[in-house]
Amino acid sequence: MPTMTKPIDQPTSAKTAGRQPKPLPAPNSDFYQLAETLDAKELALLKQVRAFMETKVAPIINKYWVEDSFPFELLPAFKELNLAGVGMQGYGCPGGSALLVGLAAIEMARVDSSIATFFGVHSGLAMGSIYLVGSEEQKQKWLPPMARMEKIGCFGLTEPLVGSGTGGGLLTTAKREGDTWVLNGQKRWIGNAPWCDISIIWAKDVADNQVKGFIVENKSTPGFSVEKIENKIALKVVQNGQITLKDCRVPDANRLQGGESSFRDTARVLRQTRYMVGWESTGCAMGAYEHAVKYAQERLQFGKPIGSFQLIQDLLSRMLANITACTCLVARTAQLDVEGKLTDAQAALSKAFCTAKSRETVAWAREILGGNGIVTDYNVARHFADAEALYSYEGTFQMQHLILGKAITGFSAFV
Ligand SMILES: Cc1cc2nc3c(=O)[nH]c(=O)nc-3n(C[C@H](O)[C@H](O)[C@H](O)COP(=O)(O)OP(=O)(O)OC[C@H]3O[C@@H](n4cnc5c(N)ncnc54)[C@H](O)[C@@H]3O)c2cc1C
Repeated sequence: MPTMTKPIDQPTSAKTAGRQPKPLPAPNSDFYQLAETLDAKELALLKQVRAFMETKVAPIINKYWVEDSFPFELLPAFKELNLAGVGMQGYGCPGGSALLVGLAAIEMARVDSSIATFFGVHSGLAMGSIYLVGSEEQKQKWLPPMARMEKIGCFGLTEPLVGSGTGGGLLTTAKREGDTWVLNGQKRWIGNAPWCDISIIWAKDVADNQVKGFIVENKSTPGFSVEKIENKIALKVVQNGQITLKDCRVPDANRLQGGESSFRDTARVLRQTRYMVGWESTGCAMGAYEHAVKYAQERLQFGKPIGSFQLIQDLLSRMLANITACTCLVARTAQLDVEGKLTDAQAALSKAFCTAKSRETVAWAREILGGNGIVTDYNVARHFADAEALYSYEGTFQMQHLILGKAITGFSAFV
């Protein structure tokens, strides 16, 4: 962070004059010490993720964010973390508890939500689709190279004309011709798509009107093309694309074959990844909070650190309360997941609540930084903007509340 004013100059009183000032507390967004509930091995891995994010990502990410580009230079060190497929057993994946999966997402988003999203799309959505809905043979074939990050994946569900309504009617079609499927349509907003290797494409089978998932190899499938979405104001490091599928021929061996061959398969994947957005958005809020605390300790106004003002302390307390509530909430969703009890409505509540609280928290962080809160160099502006995308992707706040509202009342309000 650029130098803000003079070095820290703590207020003195007659009693403390002449004594060394007490060091100020370091910002700590894990106030209830959730990370410490991991076992020693998982905590060590989490610390590696933290070190990677702080030493490799943090110093360069603002530049990439401003330039709207992806830091490919980070991929070799990312691969060395052996994190892709975290939470998945076998197939070259590292395994790990549900809590580790969530805390790793927090660690990434605490420094940068784009990096957390890049990883979430590859590991959670793309690998997760194959892990949850693929046949044994498909898992053996596709997951190991994806776990080694030799092949990077994306997840194509949203379309230019169908966003929230994907459960009701995708326009992308799949037509079977012998052992081949012919895919036609468009997908919009697809993270990693402009450069990655493998797309999970969800399309409606014209024969039975059911949604099915297909593994498409981006670089070698004729008729597959991607256009990068330009001029975003959030998650600018993630490259989002608009995919066009024009008579793309995919072998039946690439149709996800281990599920029910309906939208229920897609919903199964989304249940997992939605609650992961709860973790990511909590991490995003943590990053903004920690920057705001440091700033409040250093920035002087009226001759005093602004952190010594009651109204600033009130904002910081509200921020930490939001973060701590969200952390406890997502920790419980991880337990429910392990117990096999996590429902769509529970995942929806987590996604909606945490992203809304994150949005509130990053806005307070921005406020604490005053004018510097809108300058990228001070980091908070990036968190502030990125929280907007987390709030809308993987199902908007309204969609999550419709899922939740149905569970509460027994009435579906979906149109
Ligand atoms: C940065 C980013 C990354 C993304 N990555 C991916 C990806 O990798 N893969 C992928 O498939 N998709 C991805 N998406 C798409 C994302 O999931 C959609 O943007 C999201 O589901 C909303 O769809 P939409 O943008 O078309 O909005 P719309 O569905 O058009 O909604 C517009 C507004 O209307 C509201 N609305 C819609 N229907 C109702 C209703 N019945 N009642 C009340 N309000 C309603 C919505 O809540 C929203 O506020 C990404 C999006 C973003 C922004």
